[in-house]
Order: sequence, then C-alpha cells, then structure tokens
Amino acid sequence: MKAVIKRKRSKGLEYKDVPVPKLGLRDVLIKVHIASICGTDVHVYDWTRWAQYRLTLPRILGHEFVGHVTKIGGEVTHVKVGDRVSAESHITCGHCYQCQNDNAEVCRNFQLLGMDRDGSFAEFLVLPEHVIWKNNPNIPDEWATIQEPFGNAVDTVLAEDVSAKKVLILGAGPIGLFATGIAKACGASLIIVSDPNNYRLAISKKMGAHIAINPRKKDVVQTVLDATKNIGVDVALEFSGSTQALNQGFKTITPGGRISILGIYERRVNIDLNKDIIFKKIRIYGITGRKIFSTWHKTSRFLSSGIVDPSPVITHRFALKDYEKGMKLMKDGKCGKVILNV
Ligand code: NAD
Ligand code: ZN
Repeated sequence: MKAVIKRKRSKGLEYKDVPVPKLGLRDVLIKVHIASICGTDVHVYDWTRWAQYRLTLPRILGHEFVGHVTKIGGEVTHVKVGDRVSAESHITCGHCYQCQNDNAEVCRNFQLLGMDRDGSFAEFLVLPEHVIWKNNPNIPDEWATIQEPFGNAVDTVLAEDVSAKKVLILGAGPIGLFATGIAKACGASLIIVSDPNNYRLAISKKMGAHIAINPRKKDVVQTVLDATKNIGVDVALEFSGSTQALNQGFKTITPGGRISILGIYERRVNIDLNKDIIFKKIRIYGITGRKIFSTWHKTSRFLSSGIVDPSPVITHRFALKDYEKGMKLMKDGKCGKVILNV
C-alpha cells in the first residue's frame, strides 16, 4: 500500500510502498478515504526539536481520518466489515486510575496514533476495536475526518456554559475556528476572535465571529474593553499557544469569569497570579484531547444535525501523494483545515 512515512531523522517525509499492517485478534483493518493534516504533523515534517525527542522512526503519520472497515480480528464484537468509521487518536489502556475514573483523555499509558504507532496517512490502518467511532450516516466524509480536532474545540468551549456570554477566542487556527462555530451555536451573545492571520480572520466571520481583530494592527485588550463597555468578557478560550495572547485573555476576562486553555506553549509562561487570577476569582481549565466518548457524541450531534457547519474551515484538498503541498500551505497559514484524499 502507499503511505506517507517519516524514515529519516531530517526535514521532510516520503511517499512510499509499505506492507499493509497486520491485524491482531481485537483489531480492525480500515481502508482510509480521507485523512486530514494537523499542526502536529507539520512539526514532524519539519523535524522540530519536539518531534526529534518524541518520535521513534520509521513512522506513518496522521491521526485524523475517515474510512471503512475491511477486515476484523477474531475477538472483535462491536465493529463489522463495511462500517464507516473514524477513531479516537488516544489509544488508551483502559486499566489505569485515570481510565477507570472517567479521565481517559489523560490515560497514563496512552499511545498517540501517528506518533507512537502507525497512523492514517496510508491506504490502510489497523486500530484496536475500543477506539473506533462509528460515523453517523448524515455526516459527509469531509466532516467526519475533522471530528477529532472538532472534539478539542467542543471541550474547550463547553468546559462551562457559554449561552448569553461574551466570549474572546484567541487563535483562529482550525480548532479556534471550530470553537467559534460552536460558541455561536450555543448562544454566545458576543464572539470576538483574535489572530494575526487575515485569511483566518475572514473565515472566523463566516463561523459567527461578531468582531475579528488582528493583534498586530489593533490593541486586543482595548478593543475587548470597548466592545464590552469596560466589563470584559465572561469567557476566554486560548487556541494560539502564544504567551502574549494568553495574557490578553487574562487581562480581558471580567472578575468571576473563566478561561479554557487548549493552546500549547513552547516555553514556560509568566502569569501575574495575584492580579489576573486570584483577586479576579478566575476559573482556569486545562484541556487536553477529548472526553472518550462523550465528546464524540456531542461532536456527532453538532455535525449531523447541521447545528454547526464546519465547511468554511475546510479550505484545501489534495491527493495523498501531494501531501507536500498541504504541508507548505499549513506553514504559510493561507488555509483552514487541509485534507488529503487517500
Ligand atoms: P494552529 O497552529 O493552526 O493555530 C494557531 C493560531 O494561532 C494560528 O492561526 C496563529 O496565527 C494564531 N496566533 C499566533 N499568535 C497569536 C496571537 N498572539 N494572538 C492570536 N492568535 C495567534 O493550531 P490548531 O491546530 O488550531 O490548534 C490550536 C492550538 O491547540 C495549538 O497551540 C495546538 O498546539 C493546540 N492543541 C492542543 C491540543 C491538546 O490536546 N491540548 C490538541 C490539539 C491542538
Ligand atoms: Zn489508561
């Protein structure tokens, strides 16, 4: 089969013929229709310090996908040949304290698809039955493939209620853009989105942003205060991984408000704990992965019912062999979600 694989400890990837992966007793074999590119894949392509430390090679990349099941292991009970599926990318152990206490997204032993085991940038993929998600038939393939990052957005937005709340979204990458649509659908009364990328700010408007700010051109804190009659926002959602953006979030949350943080920071972050958190009585949520599988149910309902239309975020499509074009676009930032037709 064809696959996009990282074999060399240097920049780049290769499109190669590799053997179809072997099936275990509790595994299913999936023929991939579409795989989508995540920022993490770009880090591996670029062979950043983080990727060098994180990966053992060779590795087939990719953890967002939709496909159908072509073969099942002898002990598989719930998945059938022909099922149209996606999957939770955290392959959890099911036995640790976290897995047993409804916190499987922080499983102590999880493997990440496309990082710790071969992923979805390939014609076929093998996964254990327990991470398989059967797709709602109303969700088209192009939307089914983005359910994994969409789930990150669901948990970040809905860590608490947003209805009739004023919300600041920092970072309009694909996940911040999905979050904009979710906040809108859940009844946020004001949505302000900040991102230095004008291409993405334009998409944020289509997803429901009332105000889209470029922080290189406008003072984010002042704009938020002006738009909220100096009260500030009830909710800040951090999707940029920028320390500057995070601090703008803390400065603009109204006392008693909350912030949810999904963004990942390159370095330690300096925060004024006393002034920006304790004396303002701010609630902070760290968000990682998705609730398994309650977030998948929410995601599926948002998409299958048409409550959130993610189409404006899905901006580019390439054949798997042209993955390099997708990687380049992602680095230039002139895109939303980029998908690869396998
Ligand atoms: P992305 O890199 O595509 O988007 C980040 C956006 O932030 C970009 O559009 C960028 O222009 C913008 N940005 C940069 N500096 C900014 C600033 N000062 N103010 C406002 N915006 C700024 O990433 P994504 O795929 O949408 O993911 C969002 C974030 O979530 C990333 O940091 C990613 O690493 C992280 N992430 C975390 C998890 C988790 O489980 N915690 C999962 C997936 C992604
Ligand atoms: Zn576990």
